[in-house]
Amino acid sequence: MRPHPCQFCIGLLLLLVTSLTWSAPPLVLSDATDRINLLPYLEYLADRDGSLDLAQLRQRPEHDWHSAPQHRESLNFGYTDAVYWFRWRLENATPELQKGNLEAGYNVLDYLDLYGVRNAAVVRRLKLGDKLPFAARPLDHRNFVIPVTLPPQTTTTYYLRVETTSSMQVPLRFIRDASLLRSTQIEMLGLGLYFGTMGVMVLYNLFVFFSVRESNYLYYVLYVASIALFFASLSGVSFHYLWPHSTWWNDQSIVFFLACVVLFAALFTIRFLRVKENFPRLHHLGTLVVVVSVIIVISSLLFAYRTMIIVVIAWAVCGIALAIGVGMVRWISGDSSAKYYCISWFTLLFGGLVLALNKFDFLPRNFISENAVQIGSALEVILLSFALADRLNVEKRRRFQAQLLALENERVARLAQAEALQQEKNARQAEEQALAHEREAREAQAAALAIQRQATETLEQKVRERTQALEVANQRLEELTYTDGLTGIRNRRYLNRALEREFSRARRDHQPLAAIIIDIDHFKQFNDSHGHLAGDDCLREVARSIQACALRENDVVARYGGEEFFALLPNTDQAGALQVAEQIRAAIGGLRVQVGANTASVTASLGVSTRIPQRGETPEPFVAAADQALYQAKTGGRNQVRYGEPDYPPPS
Ligand code: GH3
Ligand code: MG
Ligand code: MG
Repeated sequence: MRPHPCQFCIGLLLLLVTSLTWSAPPLVLSDATDRINLLPYLEYLADRDGSLDLAQLRQRPEHDWHSAPQHRESLNFGYTDAVYWFRWRLENATPELQKGNLEAGYNVLDYLDLYGVRNAAVVRRLKLGDKLPFAARPLDHRNFVIPVTLPPQTTTTYYLRVETTSSMQVPLRFIRDASLLRSTQIEMLGLGLYFGTMGVMVLYNLFVFFSVRESNYLYYVLYVASIALFFASLSGVSFHYLWPHSTWWNDQSIVFFLACVVLFAALFTIRFLRVKENFPRLHHLGTLVVVVSVIIVISSLLFAYRTMIIVVIAWAVCGIALAIGVGMVRWISGDSSAKYYCISWFTLLFGGLVLALNKFDFLPRNFISENAVQIGSALEVILLSFALADRLNVEKRRRFQAQLLALENERVARLAQAEALQQEKNARQAEEQALAHEREAREAQAAALAIQRQATETLEQKVRERTQALEVANQRLEELTYTDGLTGIRNRRYLNRALEREFSRARRDHQPLAAIIIDIDHFKQFNDSHGHLAGDDCLREVARSIQACALRENDVVARYGGEEFFALLPNTDQAGALQVAEQIRAAIGGLRVQVGANTASVTASLGVSTRIPQRGETPEPFVAAADQALYQAKTGGRNQVRYGEPDYPPPS
């Protein structure tokens, strides 16, 4: 459809007005034009509510448009709800067709609408952005690259509408195909190096984790994987190669992986610096950091990118500050692994610092300054791996020392045990010896006892025999003591004792006791006539005949003196005593004593007394009475019996 002439006039007028009022110059292309930052040629307009379309935009007053600040590398409006419009002009003054590319180097922008206007007509209309599938891009590139063709002797005005929840950074440049190819190759080589390094670290440490089963390695692996994926998302590589259709996830993945970075960095730090053992009070803070990080990780999937990216960045700054603080304290207190740990975080921070200085134009743009954070993070990851290896070494050494110590202890214990066993053996031997000694002693004791018993028995036997012999001897001695040597009857010693005994007994029993004293008449003459030997024979005959008359068991017949005899008759009264005395006198008178070839005869006179002894009486008057009676028999003519009454004082 052809434009109305009126429309054409208005367009021409507008073009004229605009060309008159543009503050930024057009980029005039020559054959040599390449890698041109479009910033000096840019003008921008903020559409607060995002309601303008191209037609409305083009009717806005010129003073709404602003030229870009020239001291910056690219435009950056930070996080904003506003939609920004940018415009610039490309003028092909050459007689040939010029081909090139417009590149927007910030690949997380949500929506980019590009309009090309030439001769007041919209000649190009293109929708880009990471909210659209990757396939929507005209060129298969991680950045937004738009090929442009500019006819000779024309000026084309480009309008770019940008709407995004990320920060409003729009670095724009014009670049030729060859140049793009070259820089893309270098970029991809750098990215390959970076992700290759990260991948190797992940795989290597995952392998180490499976062999040593140390949770630190797992946290490290997850941390490295998170940081790699975060940069992959940030650089557009993951959208390009991993999830080219998932526009929602592509947006959220940046916050998600950054939150994961903080979470696993916190877990790694807590475990690696042994916060629980070294800083018991800080441990709760560490747990809090982990819990909040988990909440943020989950939230990063639920809330808008815009909200979450601010929260996560703030949280990451706090986390890194805390991690470095704790690491420094451990380093100062002599933990060698903490040194690597701190240095590794410093490299990341240093990378961030270099990038910031680059962005604020304090450092020149080059490969290193542009990719400082990636380089810093790669170095960090490598240094952290060293730190882990160092920790592993330290642990190994400590374990080895502990093992050595344990072995030494075991050796000492075994020695002590052997010594104890030896002592026990010695003790047992000593005990056995002691038992043997004891047994010997007991046997010796038993033998001694047996000998003693035998000796005792022998001794007792001997004593018994001796005692018996002694008793027999004593008896014989007593017999001899109480026997008259000539006649063999009791002597006067015996008589005296018998008299005492029988007198007491008669007193106790109130029985009469009789005494007969017998004296041979004219015995001196007999001796003189027949000799003493015949006299001795006569005495023996008289003793025998007296004894024959005293028949009772308790009667005692004793020789009283030379030719005098005494008969003591218990339980015998006066009549009985006189009768016995008469029998004795008759027996003696009837004796015929052998004298050589002849025989001779003798007579005897007898004195008798009897008494029932009373208390307090002694035998002397009783004997004296018999003796007195004997004297009377002598004086009365001999060969007769006389009785004498003992003279005791009357009882009082
Ligand atoms: P009488 O009639 O007065 O008793 O006179 P007698 O001669 O018997 O008395 P006397 O006392 O004078 O003498 C006792 C004598 O007995 C003296 C002594 O020779 C004798 N005679 C004493 N003991 C023994 C003795 O053991 N053997 C002998 N053969 N004679 C003795
Ligand atoms: Mg006499
Ligand atoms: Mg006489």
